[in-house]
Amino acid sequence: MTDERSTHIDHASTRRWLFVSDVHLEASGGTSQQQFLQFLRTEAPQADVLYILGDLFESWVGDDDPGHGAVIEALAELRRHGTACFLMHGNRDFLLGTDFCARAGCWLLPDPVIVHIDGESVLLTHGDALCTDDQAYQELRSIVRNPVWQRRFLSLPLATRVFLADQARAGSKSHTAQTLPRIMDVNASAVETAFRTARVRRMIHGHTHRPAIHDALAGGQSVQRIVLGAWYEQGSFLLYQDGHYALRELPR
Ligand code: MN
Repeated sequence: MTDERSTHIDHASTRRWLFVSDVHLEASGGTSQQQFLQFLRTEAPQADVLYILGDLFESWVGDDDPGHGAVIEALAELRRHGTACFLMHGNRDFLLGTDFCARAGCWLLPDPVIVHIDGESVLLTHGDALCTDDQAYQELRSIVRNPVWQRRFLSLPLATRVFLADQARAGSKSHTAQTLPRIMDVNASAVETAFRTARVRRMIHGHTHRPAIHDALAGGQSVQRIVLGAWYEQGSFLLYQDGHYALRELPR
């Protein structure tokens, strides 16, 4: 989206912010897709802003993939209704591009990014970059986030990209099964560095699928790290309203 008038959000009138991540929507649909579509039609229109902090899709091989039409249309409808939607790449859908954003009416955010929520600077990030103990994953991340690698991948035929993405998912599943949960969580010093570098006292991220609100100290200052939940077994979102953050579950 490039219309500057519509990218302007009057924060003075913003009352309700929503945050989700790790919806992990599959092309085949399923219950999480039904639940997320319901969320976009009922909960999200009541908010002024929706942030999607990565891994909306289980896999994304390029904007020319004809799948996920219902979700794209529901996001576009939300935008027409007046809720601004901001999207960040995750480790599974990092190839979401400008065509997708134009169709879905979303703005793509860099990762990490500092946004202003009700006058406070808040760091938003998907969260995978904080998991520095998982060295094998970080090596893979630096390869696939390289623009040259991405251009080469996107120039392959769609069927080849789908095949390679399926293989990568299988490899990722076996890596996850063989890696200690502690290794796949955020690294404490990476978190502290992120707080210090961004000069913020609150961050919101997903990726680890461990929804919680952690109060901690970083550089002698009290800070808060809010972790969003995944949508595998139930829906999960963060609501900010009237000065309070609250994690909400949507049972199935
Ligand atoms: Mn992730």
